[in-house]
Amino acid sequence: MPKRVLSGVKPSAEMMHLGNWFGAVRQFVELQATEDNYIFIADYHAMTTVHDAKQLRANSLEIATQYMACGLDPAHTVLWRQSDVPEVCELTWLLSCVTGMGLLERAHGYKSARQEGRDVSMGLFCYPVLMAADILAYEADIVPVGEDQVQHVEMTRDMAERFNNTYGDTLKLPAYRLAKGALRVPGVDGQKMSKSYGNTIGLFEPEGAMKKKIMGIVTDSTPMGTPLDPDKCTVFALHTLFPGDDLEELRAAYLSGTIGYGGAKKALLTKVLDALAPIRARYDELKRDPSYVADVLREGAVKARLVARRTMDACRLAAGFADPVG
Ligand code: AMP
Repeated sequence: MPKRVLSGVKPSAEMMHLGNWFGAVRQFVELQATEDNYIFIADYHAMTTVHDAKQLRANSLEIATQYMACGLDPAHTVLWRQSDVPEVCELTWLLSCVTGMGLLERAHGYKSARQEGRDVSMGLFCYPVLMAADILAYEADIVPVGEDQVQHVEMTRDMAERFNNTYGDTLKLPAYRLAKGALRVPGVDGQKMSKSYGNTIGLFEPEGAMKKKIMGIVTDSTPMGTPLDPDKCTVFALHTLFPGDDLEELRAAYLSGTIGYGGAKKALLTKVLDALAPIRARYDELKRDPSYVADVLREGAVKARLVARRTMDACRLAAGFADPVG
């Protein structure tokens, strides 16, 4: 029996990078073969930081385009924009009324915003309730998370339990799934690849820009002809993301000094471009047809909304609001 796996993706103007692909997106694409995959573009969440309407709209479409280019298939994954299902806001209110402020005061996001002296909007403070509503509205079985998000699923379970204890068994409790042996893709400077470090290799960058980045990966200055340590080399670490027969040969060439960093970088560029060729081509195709992507999101929202409506009707009934059919 397939499980309903739910994930939200914050729309961002920045391009998806190799770290996102190997660390997250690839798993979503694999899951759609066996599980009931539900993925939403978390534009309500983005509103805690983005207040430019044009940018928010464009970002949502862009991130959907990138996910679809990476292989998310609307025939196997329900993909929609969070804000197209207003029921989640309604559920947020119902959950807010059974959630103590103390619980929200313990949320990592709120605590770090306070520590950094940032302004905290009610939206940011209530963020975990909206996240819980997203998970509970769609009757999710499993929410795949990184370690930093375990707390959100635990809070969601707390809120659902409070609701169920108050009004009777209505909401389904989700479980989280922690990515095992989480992969750490290094960026061009050797630190973890991340938009905030400016060290990314974007999946859809023009070939020239990608070449410049890969040829610029930071290495030591061991001269050509000297043995190199593959286990201390960012270029080699990036090669290992693409398993193949050539990896052992490459390791041997490093150890014997028959390859230099320049050669290893050129081989990496070829490998990255070959591996990404289908998704880059699909991206170009989708960019030429934004109305198709918009249609996919709309159709996804219709399917998602049916589930959310059902949950909402049950919650309204349980909490003493008008009978939805009356
Ligand atoms: P971000 O856009 O930085 O929030 O990343 C989204 C997801 O991509 C994260 O939750 C990780 O699963 C994955 N990810 C991002 N950067 C890396 C990286 N350098 N190595 C492995 N996974 C990553």
